[in-house]
Amino acid sequence: MPTLKIVQTGDPVLRQQARALTAQEIALPGIQMLIALMRDTMRDAPGVGLAAPQIGESLQLVVIEDPVEDPERDRAKVPFHVLVNPTLTLEGDERVEAFEGCLSFAGFSMVVPRARNVTVTALDERGEPVEIKASGWYARILQHEIDHLRGVLCCDRMDARTLTTAENHARHWRTASVSDVKAAVALPQPDE
Ligand code: ZN
Repeated sequence: MPTLKIVQTGDPVLRQQARALTAQEIALPGIQMLIALMRDTMRDAPGVGLAAPQIGESLQLVVIEDPVEDPERDRAKVPFHVLVNPTLTLEGDERVEAFEGCLSFAGFSMVVPRARNVTVTALDERGEPVEIKASGWYARILQHEIDHLRGVLCCDRMDARTLTTAENHARHWRTASVSDVKAAVALPQPDE
């Protein structure tokens, strides 16, 4: 199974506005091959989403698949699917903070606030229009991946004091609530 190289933060392609694809382009064998390679690269990483800029292609193309069910994290399984030229609408004012990571910010984890509910319209891999209403972890994945198409990384939106290596996240923070984490890493107050 061939996989693609995932570019890391600092690569200029991750900071560009990606270009939209036409319906004719989506049907091209080269784009269909790219979708298959992105799917295999995401599964191999492993990750739950991959945007084309992350493999060095500045195109509005995302693949998503979440095999994990975890009600505590508002997380349900999401089958493999493709989004082309997506538009994202945040629904309501509810925001949820959680640790997330990025295959282009490898080895780190950080608390990022995200909207709990979103609507996405896009084209699928056949160029057909789709509308998705998502909440919880799936909504987080959609916001993260669509950010990649606008040159935005999760570190742009993170609570910077929560930034941790994945190893230290597992060691110190995995079982803590986000509010406990934020209290533990809050800027120390100078003595009176
Ligand atoms: Zn990412």
